[in-house]
Amino acid sequence: MAIQTINPYTNLPGKEFDELTEEQIESKIISADTAYKSWRDTPVKERCAILAKVAQLLQDKKDKLAKLITEEMGKLISESRDEIDISSAIYKYYADNAESFLQDRQLEVEKGSAYIKYSPIGIILGVEPWNYPFYQVARLAAPNIAAGNVIMIKHASIVPQCAQAIEDIFKEAGAPEGVYTNLFVSGKNISRLADDKRIKGLSLTGSEDAGSSLAEAAGKNLKKSVLELGGNDPFIVLDDADLDHAVKMAFAGRMKNMGQSCTAAKRMIVDEKVADAFTEKLAEKVRNMRVGDPSEEDTEIGPLSSEDAAKKLNKQIQETIEQGAKVLLGGKRMDRAGAFVEPTILTDIKPGMTAYHEELFGPVISIYKVKGEEEAVKLANDSDFGLGGSVYSKDVARAERVAHQIETGMVFINEPTSSSPELPFGGIKRSGYGRELSDLGIHEFVNKKLIRISGKGGSERKTE
Ligand code: NAP
Repeated sequence: MAIQTINPYTNLPGKEFDELTEEQIESKIISADTAYKSWRDTPVKERCAILAKVAQLLQDKKDKLAKLITEEMGKLISESRDEIDISSAIYKYYADNAESFLQDRQLEVEKGSAYIKYSPIGIILGVEPWNYPFYQVARLAAPNIAAGNVIMIKHASIVPQCAQAIEDIFKEAGAPEGVYTNLFVSGKNISRLADDKRIKGLSLTGSEDAGSSLAEAAGKNLKKSVLELGGNDPFIVLDDADLDHAVKMAFAGRMKNMGQSCTAAKRMIVDEKVADAFTEKLAEKVRNMRVGDPSEEDTEIGPLSSEDAAKKLNKQIQETIEQGAKVLLGGKRMDRAGAFVEPTILTDIKPGMTAYHEELFGPVISIYKVKGEEEAVKLANDSDFGLGGSVYSKDVARAERVAHQIETGMVFINEPTSSSPELPFGGIKRSGYGRELSDLGIHEFVNKKLIRISGKGGSERKTE
């Protein structure tokens, strides 16, 4: 597969990059392995100083980097700038907090003492998606580089300029060669990298197929892995919700990033008492969106990330319609150049239909009517995915009760699922395993080593 920029607004090709040869990959692994041997002993404060510099450089170069995101995957320019902001905040967060997260943890013991020491493990390979090209990398790179690991990233093939820009920023920030390495390789090289004994941990953010293939390689090699995969998140509106607020949140939660977020509000599950009013208000908002060039500030509907993505989404929409769902709005490709799909609202979706089971990665709102709380929870949990979700009610205790029953890794109340450096991010079921961000994220790829010190000299220890 070519590693090339294709602007999805025009579908015209841009910069192209050569895939690394076998020899080049080997030399990059040697360099990362060598870097690890001194990076692990570099004081945390010095490691964090590099991350703080990365955070600052992202801010300094925000406009230029945002343009790259928009050119390569079509994100609206204001959202591209937001992505640089949150990426910068993640590097800053670990720069400020890693030292305390990595403090030894004292254990309570009857005699002597014991503690857990968090030690790095080596090279971590990250396989990253195009939908948030800077932010996804930050979630893996920042905590691990702070912890003393080194990072090699195989980024999505459609965002090579973003991939290269991140490596360049690490170099400019003063990271020693090999601490952060960009790998221009295709997916087929991943199992060869996973087999390499010098690579100690594997992390993938992306689709189920890519995730299961990485997990298979990790399993075969008995290596720790973290998977951040897709979702079909429920957005539950109870009968006592503030409807205008819920509509606003539904719009933001579904349309952000042109619907191409893993935690987008993909299934609106609405109590029948308020469903018609909710649907009407939401349709009104969607109907008025301005279509255009994502690099222009007032555009609200831009292209999807690629022609392939638009074709795939359109196929899922057509299948769902043929299977009997109703189309309230949109429902097809736009009659214009570029990877555009009409913002779409589907209703009357039933089990067995494509939209019921699959993740629709684009601006498609699926609305389900339910009778009461219990039915809402049952429908929300009838999914192979388990990433995020949100619940809307004026009664927060009631919303919490519902949230506790939802089988996902994250549930937000009265706001759509979102991300912030201090909030752990991750899913269960086919949405993956492990967590990124917060203190949990820094503890995924470290050796939680027990150090036990006897109460008195010699061999005294408690016997069972
Ligand atoms: P994708 O096609 O799975 O690609 C993700 C990465 O995996 C890319 O670097 C891709 O490389 C690589 N890849 C593809 N097939 C592979 C294989 N068989 N073995 C190893 N690597 C492989 O996913 P995407 O379309 O870029 O991203 C969208 C998906 O990511 C959605 O399902 C979304 O929900 C999920 N996502 C999840 C999270 C989360 O935190 N849970 C966050 C963001 C996105 P190439 O580009 O070279 O094919």
